[in-house]
Amino acid sequence: MGAGMVIIGAGECGARAAVALREHGYDGPVTLVGAERHLPYERPPLSKEAMAADDPQAKTIADHARLAAHRIDFMPETAATGIDRHARRVLLGSGTDLAYERLLIATGATPRRLPFAHGPRMAYLRTFDDALAIRRHLGPGRSIAIVGGGFIGLELAAAARRLGAEVTLIEAQPRILMRGVPQEIAAVIDTRHRAEGVELVTGDGIADMTDDGACVTLHLASGRRVEADLAIIGIGAAPATDLAHSAGLAVEDGIAVDEYLRTSDPDIFAAGDCCSFPLALYGGRRVRLEAWRNAQEQGTLAARNMLGHAEPHSAVPWFWTDQYDLGLQIAGLCDEGGHVVRRDLGEDAFILFHLADDGRLVAASGIGQGTAVAKDIRLAEMLIARSAKPDARHLASPAIRLKTLLAA
Ligand code: NAP
Repeated sequence: MGAGMVIIGAGECGARAAVALREHGYDGPVTLVGAERHLPYERPPLSKEAMAADDPQAKTIADHARLAAHRIDFMPETAATGIDRHARRVLLGSGTDLAYERLLIATGATPRRLPFAHGPRMAYLRTFDDALAIRRHLGPGRSIAIVGGGFIGLELAAAARRLGAEVTLIEAQPRILMRGVPQEIAAVIDTRHRAEGVELVTGDGIADMTDDGACVTLHLASGRRVEADLAIIGIGAAPATDLAHSAGLAVEDGIAVDEYLRTSDPDIFAAGDCCSFPLALYGGRRVRLEAWRNAQEQGTLAARNMLGHAEPHSAVPWFWTDQYDLGLQIAGLCDEGGHVVRRDLGEDAFILFHLADDGRLVAASGIGQGTAVAKDIRLAEMLIARSAKPDARHLASPAIRLKTLLAA
């Protein structure tokens, strides 16, 4: 059998791509190379359900039976150490290599590190093993310090409170969720965390962290000290581009791909958190999305394009987070234009509709209990996908059903 499809990275994106290759009729060899010891699993539960469970289990995307049924050669605990583009081979840490006809790089992102934060009481969350290590520290009477008021920090803060731990969360920016989440929505989350007993410290950085064996001490830039049983650092993630970079592929924030997810080498594709791509709906602006649904969609799209379909990326970005009983959803990119508010969803739920200067709906961000905003965010997503220019007064009016705007 000749060289087949090789996928580096067995997360959401890589695993979906491997399955999609088969679902779209590819019959040659498919090899999925993963650094971790586990079968491919979903990451969103790591900061949510896995923290709530007494004995967390990984939520597997493809188990042994499914991998076998799709004839996917899964190589766990395997490091891809290089790409020889001339010989079309992926070099492995074991000293062996894999020939490829087409290659997909789905290496994801790695947590940004604080230079002084390493040791048994300082944790990062990216993998299931990281989640297990953190979960062991959570419980009544434990004190947890969290650095970073982004998605990981806030979801873990909610989980830790639920388990009775004392939580202090430190965010360097003036507010939590500064990037990509509107202030009005971040304020609801901020208020809720404080009401649940989280101490939120904003506008203060970390000058140093020390571990004396009994506890970890965070030395804040303001001079304040915070002591805890465990410090969790969630200060963002950097795309895993080393392999691409050393193979001479173009890298622009992430591995630079075109709308077909092709890198600067037409036989090599990249998808998910590790790549930056032009977002047609936003004037071709190059973005990198760290989001579960994006990883899924791009994995499937990359597989189709590896098989020659030449389909451009067209999905609307979508993010969500659950904290306590609050559900936040965002469709589109809400860093452009102004917005109007709609409040017809009961309780305290509301949605902001973000409109560009030319009247196009570019994003919708909403928050409410559970899935209160889900249906309307889905409708907004459809409007965004059509580059619709709905009347701002209609978007804000509870008297006008959102669905009717789709028919306009
Ligand atoms: P994140 O959402 O980017 O948030 C990191 C936060 O930490 C940012 O507000 C950042 O501010 C702040 N920060 C940076 N340096 C700091 C410092 N020295 N001290 C205090 N705060 C600092 O990233 P994350 O929460 O670490 O999540 C990592 C990855 O997991 C991301 O890919 C994320 O999308 C993913 N994830 C997603 C979800 C979800 O979508 N629901 C849930 C969990 C994890 P700046 O903006 O100024 O850097």
